[in-house]
Amino acid sequence: MSNNIERLQCVIIGSGPAGYTAAIYAARADMNPVVYTGMEMGGQLTTTTEVDNFPGYPEGIDGPRLMEDLKAQAERFGTDVRFGLITKVDFSDKEGGIHTLEVDGSKTIEAETVIIATGASAKYLGLPSEERLKGGGVSACATCDGFFYKGQDVIVVGGGDTAAEEATYLAKLCNKVTLLVRRDELRASKAMQERVFKTKNLEVMWNTEIDEIIGDKVVEGVRVFNNKTQDKKVVDVTGVFIAIGHKPNTDLFKGQLTMDDHKYLITDGKSTKTNKPGVFACGDVQDSYYRQAITAAGSGCMAALDAERYLGALE
Ligand code: FAD
Ligand code: NAP
Repeated sequence: MSNNIERLQCVIIGSGPAGYTAAIYAARADMNPVVYTGMEMGGQLTTTTEVDNFPGYPEGIDGPRLMEDLKAQAERFGTDVRFGLITKVDFSDKEGGIHTLEVDGSKTIEAETVIIATGASAKYLGLPSEERLKGGGVSACATCDGFFYKGQDVIVVGGGDTAAEEATYLAKLCNKVTLLVRRDELRASKAMQERVFKTKNLEVMWNTEIDEIIGDKVVEGVRVFNNKTQDKKVVDVTGVFIAIGHKPNTDLFKGQLTMDDHKYLITDGKSTKTNKPGVFACGDVQDSYYRQAITAAGSGCMAALDAERYLGALE
């Protein structure tokens, strides 16, 4: 091993509920875990306000606060949390093999076990006008950007829990929110649907999609169309919030780890084992079905236990 290559027992990639929970368990098992946070320290929940369904918080908790608490809990047991992006991986095929990771395109580290908790990222519609106006009125995070649209009219696109939550959050700040839903029903949970329907300044436009976002540097309006009648109309808004789901952050592992058709990592049975010995995956990156903070945290716990048992079996 060369002098400038650091050798670690357990590297955790990602700092969402899965990564930090894995860290809590790995640290308590004396595996001296190092967490690389990635660009979104704290993960997806740092982009939301109220988290009402994480056990232990009867009054609900603010997303960023929950993630600060999880980080502090992981650090209390000795986890080394480092701000950095894993830019390359080389996973060994051998039992007991050492895995090589590159951090921020420069530093190399070697790891006996790797826990992948890279989660998922917001999807966009893929329209040229959307791309042009990102940062000029097009956003995928109401909590981050909603403030800038205080008292104005905005559109939210999507029909799931994220869209419902973004829309009701924005309705508190904005004059009017229009929710564009491409079908004639919401995918969101019943509780979230109720919230949408009882919000007075929130209008749902069913079977409606975006044709084009109007504006050169900033959003000046949105041309929408009804996908049943093909009727078009312009909605006057200054902000467009895209909330159509997320894609798993797995590009880094292409060609090395097995993935399903939607690029989620495949784990073995009920475990968090990937197809490479000593490499484990937890949270949204391997779960296209539940995608909740608590399920991510639960699988983070499982990944640390799997990693601990893997190391124990090698001794
Ligand atoms: P994430 O939270 O996605 O974290 C992934 C981490 O990986 C990030 O820290 C990122 O920086 C890091 N990363 C990615 N690539 C790299 C790399 N190359 N190197 C290093 N690090 C990397 N769930 C609920 O249960 N209740 C809710 O109320 C709720 N509200 C939500 C609101 C919104 C707006 C959204 C988007 C989601 C919400 N969810 C909620 C879902 C919940 O946030 C996710 O299920 C959960 O965050 C998944 O956790 P995770 O640890 O798997 O991944
Ligand atoms: P999701 O459940 O996958 O919903 C995505 C929504 O966007 C769907 O309504 C989908 O329409 C729509 N959509 C997708 N592509 C589109 C396009 N190109 N144009 C227009 N609409 C499009 O994603 P999510 O809402 O982000 O939720 C992800 C997970 O996080 C879920 O498990 C959810 O329960 C969880 N979450 C929970 C909470 C909470 O509990 N408070 C809050 C947020 C998220 P179709 O319905 O037609 O497919």
